[in-house]
Amino acid sequence: MAKRDYYEVLGISKTATEEDIKKAYRNLAKKYHPDVSSEENAAEKFKEVQEAYEVLSDPTKREQYNQFGHDGPQMGGFDGFNFGGFGGFGGFEDILSSMFGGRTRTSENGKRPTRGNDLRTSLTISFEEAAFGTEKELSINKYESCTKCNGLGAESKNDISVCSRCHGRGRIVVEQNSIFGRIQTETACSTCGGTGEVIKNKCSLCGGDGRVKKVSKIKVRVPAGIDDGQGLKLSGYGEAGRKGGMNGDLYINVNVRPHEIFQRDGLDIYMEMPITFSQAALGANIIIPTLTGNVNLKIPSGTQTGTKFKLTGKGISNSRTLDTGHQYVIVSLVTPTKLSGEQKDLLKKLSKTDEMSESIFSKIKKFFKN
Ligand SMILES: [Zn+2]
Ligand SMILES: [Zn+2]
Repeated sequence: MAKRDYYEVLGISKTATEEDIKKAYRNLAKKYHPDVSSEENAAEKFKEVQEAYEVLSDPTKREQYNQFGHDGPQMGGFDGFNFGGFGGFGGFEDILSSMFGGRTRTSENGKRPTRGNDLRTSLTISFEEAAFGTEKELSINKYESCTKCNGLGAESKNDISVCSRCHGRGRIVVEQNSIFGRIQTETACSTCGGTGEVIKNKCSLCGGDGRVKKVSKIKVRVPAGIDDGQGLKLSGYGEAGRKGGMNGDLYINVNVRPHEIFQRDGLDIYMEMPITFSQAALGANIIIPTLTGNVNLKIPSGTQTGTKFKLTGKGISNSRTLDTGHQYVIVSLVTPTKLSGEQKDLLKKLSKTDEMSESIFSKIKKFFKN
């Protein structure tokens, strides 16, 4: 995405004074601060505003920006506004693309329904389970809607009255001193805890919260083809919301255990297959293990160590993209360490007839000194 002009971001002219810049920043920061804003993409916009302010409020940086724009020598370092992003995920559509590092808006939204917290957990599966998909059960300790009061928090509806301090708003205005002078900020009402309500007879099970923390068992379907470090999102399986708010989501980071003989690269599988000298020299049919059972591989005579053979379609299938990888077999010649007398005799006979490939020999020959 192309970067917007910093002056445009702050909605000011090129000739704006320092005071204009501060003022514009203050207004926009209040509007887009992720903790209070209900705007779409608030976090991104807030980040953009902060970045523009960072540059334009500094006379040196502003000067450089005026001259060189975003490509200026000092314009590179603005990735420091880190809202976290959920690292390590890729490949699947429902993977989280942007989140503000663990920030949640739940506690400050007052009387409005608030969404439950997102939760993160990890899951370790075997190489084969990743290849073919699997179903796992997770035990997650999380807030669930109280079954006794159905999330109401009170013994009955009549036990709930409007908070007299905030008059049901759930928020009160406080004045604070800041670098910009006195500013008014809203915070959650401490009398009602931001709910806007006071409960006379709290629900005996949840104590008025409307939610109870308990261990829930969740079935997770892991799709075939998932790779180590990829993630899954289970919408609505995070913590329960308050006052009828939506549930949060559950993010699962999937770890795949290494396999004893197979290595994975995307959807392709690699393995090393030891072969004997006679197999390499004479050619052979060897049996190769794959994820779907043994297959025959014909090794031609004169096969060199390190030769790579491809078993088409024997890799991993991604159940979502329907792509399938291949299996690559890299043969390695094993030199025998224990020989019987008969084998030694045969090899001695063989060595007398040795002839090295002419092309290789001629390459090496020029390095010998006469
Ligand atoms: Zn209140
Ligand atoms: Zn309850």
